[in-house]
Amino acid sequence: GRTEYAKFRDVLAQTSDGVRVKLHANAGLASDLTVARENGAEGIGLYRSEYPFIVRNAFPTRGEQVHIYSKAYELFPDGPIQFRILDLAGDKFVGSRPLGAGRSAFHGYRSIRVLFDHPDLLRDQVQALAIAAGGRPLRILIPMVTSIEELRRVKTMIRQALDALDEPIAQRAPQIGAMIEVPAAVELAADIAKEVDFLSIGTNDLMQYTLLLDREDPRMAQMSDPYHPAILRMIARVVTAAHGAGRSVGVCGEIASRTDVALVLIALGVDSLSVAPTAIPELKQALARARVHSMRRAVPEILALSDARSIAVALRAAQSA
Ligand code: PEP
Ligand code: MG
Repeated sequence: GRTEYAKFRDVLAQTSDGVRVKLHANAGLASDLTVARENGAEGIGLYRSEYPFIVRNAFPTRGEQVHIYSKAYELFPDGPIQFRILDLAGDKFVGSRPLGAGRSAFHGYRSIRVLFDHPDLLRDQVQALAIAAGGRPLRILIPMVTSIEELRRVKTMIRQALDALDEPIAQRAPQIGAMIEVPAAVELAADIAKEVDFLSIGTNDLMQYTLLLDREDPRMAQMSDPYHPAILRMIARVVTAAHGAGRSVGVCGEIASRTDVALVLIALGVDSLSVAPTAIPELKQALARARVHSMRRAVPEILALSDARSIAVALRAAQSA
């Protein structure tokens, strides 16, 4: 119950056999931030910056954005807060200027590609983030990375936006992260890791684009299986690539809030999980009761299996081993 969860609020997430994982929250609106704080999130793993735009159905000015992002710093003064730059798409668009909507809004003309055509949007946002940070650590997450060229182009735009800031604010260079959420980024994970400070795996889109699923279509929900061997192997490869480059890697898709899946992700070596703020107390409690060492030993065998059902069976066996 609620009071039982309360005692987990101030303890760090850890399995009963002592494996630590950072437990962060996904947030978009101010209410998410509040719940994340109340539920003992260690930080914001994914700040979906398009949400405040979507609810207003408009593009807030730089000043308005400063106000919005400051709220996150108020609630998480010690961070970390990973602000994802605008990820406009078929499932995330702003009506008054329907960028990110339209025919190829899921596959093609979305996210950073929209920003390439509207550099003013990215400039205002990056400057607002820097002003809101006011010298505190700033972490900027780049969505939908598909190539090194596009990644470098966004990084340059971010640097230019910061260089062009009119007010002299004490600034540190932001930490830059890349979302790994399309198959091309998995393939390039080691190269991407060298270009950035951290990686974040977005399994919602990675599953959509890898498994030929439409995340908005309820008929596909059943097929959206995190135990699909392609997905587990991809996650394992990204973890290896990130750690090989000395970078941390998190998972911020919805699957991370399932206890069974969270344990597999921890066994695969993922450093942090970012989940819906409401899912945190239950997940923390479940992890505190679970063990991960035996599952970790079974990872090579599990990754060699070729169907999701066998994987689920092997995982259950490993957990009770
Ligand atoms: C994802 O794609 O898994 C993700 C976390 O981002 P979003 O759900 O906002 O696309
Ligand atoms: Mg995504």
